Amino acid sequence: MTKFSDLNLNPKVLKAIDEAGYETPTPIQAEAIPPALEGRDVLGIAQTGTGKTASFTLPMITLLARGRARARMPRSLVLCPTRELAAQVAENFDTYAKHLKLTKALLIGGVSFKEQDAAIDRGVDVLIATPGRLLDHFERGKLILSDVKVMVVDEADRMLDMGFIPDIERIFGMTNPLTRQTLFFSATMAPEIERITNTFLSAPARIEVARQATASENIEQGVVMFKGSRRDREGSEKRKLLRTLIDGEGEKCTNAIIFCNRKMDVDVVAKSLKKYGHNAAPIHGDLDQSQRTKTLDSFREGELRILVASDVAARGLDVPSVSHVFNFDVPSHAEDYVHRIGRTGRAGRDGKAVMICVPKDEKNLADIERLVQREIPRLENPLKSAKEEAAKDSGKDGAEEKKYTTRTRRSSAKTSEPRKAADETADSTKDRQPKTEERQAKTEERQTKSEDRRPKSNDNRSRSSDNRSNSRSSSNRSRGGRDNGKSVVGLGDHLPSFIALSFEERRAS
Ligand code: AMP
Repeated sequence: MTKFSDLNLNPKVLKAIDEAGYETPTPIQAEAIPPALEGRDVLGIAQTGTGKTASFTLPMITLLARGRARARMPRSLVLCPTRELAAQVAENFDTYAKHLKLTKALLIGGVSFKEQDAAIDRGVDVLIATPGRLLDHFERGKLILSDVKVMVVDEADRMLDMGFIPDIERIFGMTNPLTRQTLFFSATMAPEIERITNTFLSAPARIEVARQATASENIEQGVVMFKGSRRDREGSEKRKLLRTLIDGEGEKCTNAIIFCNRKMDVDVVAKSLKKYGHNAAPIHGDLDQSQRTKTLDSFREGELRILVASDVAARGLDVPSVSHVFNFDVPSHAEDYVHRIGRTGRAGRDGKAVMICVPKDEKNLADIERLVQREIPRLENPLKSAKEEAAKDSGKDGAEEKKYTTRTRRSSAKTSEPRKAADETADSTKDRQPKTEERQAKTEERQTKSEDRRPKSNDNRSRSSDNRSNSRSSSNRSRGGRDNGKSVVGLGDHLPSFIALSFEERRAS
């Protein structure tokens, strides 16, 4: 087995690795470090969790240990898709370069330019940046990239997802291809990524580590199949289900990350959890950087119990002990499922990952199951079972109550209070709805028929004399509305006669 000491790394780097407690290099480290140290380009096809960050930081530090940075001309550049990842890479440099005097700067959005400018002016050995902020600095004339000796593109597939590829191409164009060494990492090789690597990498050492298609065995997984009672209620019912699932875990859920597919849902879910007394906060790309850092820090330190996150914001986050992951949505890329649930069950701990799947996501669920090559156990919907239990327990009284609630619900549907009833009894609404709609449709049909009849009677009325109308109306009144043998127009069969009376009266007048 390869040891770190076999890899020709700087002795001060080896000392830092030892202090970090790492004993043996991971496969990507063992394979990527030697060619990187030889000055070759590297194409690493590897995901977060494989140790890929150290596979480029360790040789970079060794290569940069000799030489000095010049003002505004960084000697190396690491491009990351998100601010959090950039910050994490910067932490890695701090850890492994602690016995060397290397300078670094972190150029990420949401932070003032002033400090970043000052760092660049002093000269940096390592520049870690997100593409947008780097280009901002370049356009302000503050940065010269022609002296970059090592350039790293980390998580290129995520850059592609985020639309950063044109920026990356521009940045490549600002460096000197003859003196630049490139270390390029991506979890997948989409055609666009293949094109970029063919264009900018020169005879790279291609290293592919086993795809992280299997989740750790110590993660208990489950999925709740869920269908909202109505499309417009699916969101609120899904949030209720999520709360029930979290509550159901009780004290076992010490902390959790909840993943949503859309930023908007991240906000809504976090807000709703807070409203119901949970200690939760959102994290996604649209939030202010200082807030993102604060939220993340408080989650790491255990002050925040629930982090509601988007994939991008949480990608590559290294929080050692997360007891639960809840997938509020089924991720649309199957690989993201493995990433997401990999936030729990780390370092040999037990973890639990629960997902909610609505009918439209069933195809994505099938893709995930194909990727992980196992069926994710179906869990019972706790809302449904709670209701069933309640019905069983209440026995005969329950039956009475059921009759009562059915009546109440029907009347509430008529009296335009269906929302409240539905919120309390989401599933039964499903059964009730078609009947209500059917009834409404019948009523409407009757109304339409009576509308057809009405003009005729109006015509007659207009042709008849006022006296005749009056006498007819008074005779109707005396005989009592629908009992007079004529059907009452437009108001159905169950109409109390006094309503028919007043109706006729209005017509007469
Ligand atoms: P990464 O894939 O770079 O995000 O790394 C994932 C995790 O693995 C991080 O928590 C690293 O600190 C850890 N790690 C990196 N290299 C090693 C190693 N050789 N042995 C054990 N853990 C490592």
